Amino acid sequence: MIQQESFEREDDKKFKCLAVFVDEDKILRLKTQIINRRDKEDFRKPMLLLSNHEVILKLIEHYHEKNLHCGLQILRNILREKFWILNGRKTIRKVVSKCVICKRFSSKRLKVDSGPLPESRVRNDAVFQITGVAAAGPLFLRGNQKARVLLFTCAVYRAVHLELIPSLYTEAFLMGFRRFVARRGRCSTIYCENGTNFVGAANLLHGLDWNKIIRHGAINAIEWKFNPPTAAWWGGWWERLIRIMKVYLRSSTAAL
Ligand SMILES: [Zn+2]
Repeated sequence: MIQQESFEREDDKKFKCLAVFVDEDKILRLKTQIINRRDKEDFRKPMLLLSNHEVILKLIEHYHEKNLHCGLQILRNILREKFWILNGRKTIRKVVSKCVICKRFSSKRLKVDSGPLPESRVRNDAVFQITGVAAAGPLFLRGNQKARVLLFTCAVYRAVHLELIPSLYTEAFLMGFRRFVARRGRCSTIYCENGTNFVGAANLLHGLDWNKIIRHGAINAIEWKFNPPTAAWWGGWWERLIRIMKVYLRSSTAAL
């Protein structure tokens, strides 16, 4: 029926130079080069079909699903075992590309372009003029002593300064900070995780007396800027450095 709707006669122009014949059931078939092979009738003499028929689209879809959503080339070979579809490749590709299940598994992740860095992170400044600070640890020193590491990183040049402090009390933090300023110079702005809000155990700095630290900063004209508690990724530029530090620390202490 499909053949009757698609083709006029066995010498239809659509066949171009294909050798077409009519079998005893009045079905148009193709004389292939492997006609002398001992194989299935349909494989040696495939039935001719025109690809833009609605039923053919359904047929391709059926074979695609039956064969576990196989790709274009496999599907084409499987169909070839029975049918010779004119313009088949294009149609099969169209059907496969419309398959919702295949689409679900081959779709690419949504990508968001990262925005431009704020001005304070790209301008020409002295090293450590704009600094980010974070805490890591605890580390266990010899004699079961606990210690934390304060990590200072320059926002523009990504320079890193580490300070070992015995605990995360405000005094110890300020002393570590004092040592950092004495060594690297006074910063104008310091970025920090949100210290005034409790945002879970992951934030090591929440126990500090931030009012005291900010007061201390005001004397030295240092401005403290806190990341909002709901935006932990704002601290990505120092969290990554903490990870690097931990990796090197681990490998270097393992050698001792
Ligand atoms: Zn599929």
